[in-house]
Amino acid sequence: MSMDIKITPVSRSRIGERRLDPQSFGTICCDHMLVADYRDGEWTDVRIEPYAPLALPPSISALQYGISVFEGHKAFQTADGEVVLFRPDQNCARLRRSCRRLVLPEVPEEIYIEGLRQLIRIDREWVPGPDDGSLYIRPSVFATDQNIRVRPPSSCRFVIFTCAVGHYYPEPLKLLVTTDYVRAFPGGTGDVKPAGNYAPALLAEREAQRRGFHGVLWLDGRERRFAEEAGVMNVFFVIDGTVVTPNLGGTILPGITRDSVITLLAAMGIDVQERPISIDEVAEAHAAGRLRECFGTGTAATIAHIAEIGYRDKILTLPPVADRDITPTVLARMTALRSGREPDHFGWLSPV
Ligand SMILES: *Cc1c(COP(=O)(O)O)cnc(C)c1O
Repeated sequence: MSMDIKITPVSRSRIGERRLDPQSFGTICCDHMLVADYRDGEWTDVRIEPYAPLALPPSISALQYGISVFEGHKAFQTADGEVVLFRPDQNCARLRRSCRRLVLPEVPEEIYIEGLRQLIRIDREWVPGPDDGSLYIRPSVFATDQNIRVRPPSSCRFVIFTCAVGHYYPEPLKLLVTTDYVRAFPGGTGDVKPAGNYAPALLAEREAQRRGFHGVLWLDGRERRFAEEAGVMNVFFVIDGTVVTPNLGGTILPGITRDSVITLLAAMGIDVQERPISIDEVAEAHAAGRLRECFGTGTAATIAHIAEIGYRDKILTLPPVADRDITPTVLARMTALRSGREPDHFGWLSPV
């Protein structure tokens, strides 16, 4: 690896401010950030510098038109003190797909992966121990063009910053099926991570919260029949002994946790089906006592149990978490694998 990264270290570390409690999740960033600029047709000026505010003109098209995409993933410290990234190649590939969808220049894999490794090495002290938490990684690419015309950007910036986070075990979620709003639709951007996908969901989330739920269970945009995602997580249903999750088809975000959970379940000999699942099928399975477990997957929580689904005037109450079998088992396997306590058969861990 010959890429030249200019490093400007902090004069004094802020590591004393590190907080791993759930309230602080993602609020205190590590000392350094990785930055690179795209201009005149190439990525240049790759650098690691102190985490600090960016000075940018108000007219940049990232702010005006949302020409901005992001990723989210984690690094873990293993039981023997090594720091590893979990499937970083997948996040890099997905960021590049997000860039293509928004006509942003794709960040070269070398800048992303090698830059990230060097960034984590310099902030190594911030990475929590395996029983305490992980390092959350937030890359983004956004247009820095100063032009109030809407057009593909000619200049942009790539930034990765990180935060030490504690383990996050959300309480089992109560979700409300929304038929008033949609998150994604065929031909849209539901299968990538542009910044602009998230603000439009806030109103639906808030309305659900006002009715006593934690968030929204999204249905498909065309028929409003098929379950798609649980907030910003992929969704899984356990019906009898079979695990069903909506198939990817352009409107579902291809979660890396989703893919990992499917792979682990299959390796455990459990039947996993990726197929459309209507909310009526979910309600019927519930009525017949066959809906045993339900959960969401994503980098932040890994796996979040779902306790209740509100649909029209009904509440589908799932069995208590203590009675669940498949969800806790697959979560324990994910946790053991990432902490190096279980062999990494799939080659998912990548040393920093
Ligand atoms: C990022 C994201 C996920 C989860 O993806 P992971 O790679 O598992 O973190 C699921 N749904 C949406 C809408 C997302 O933005």
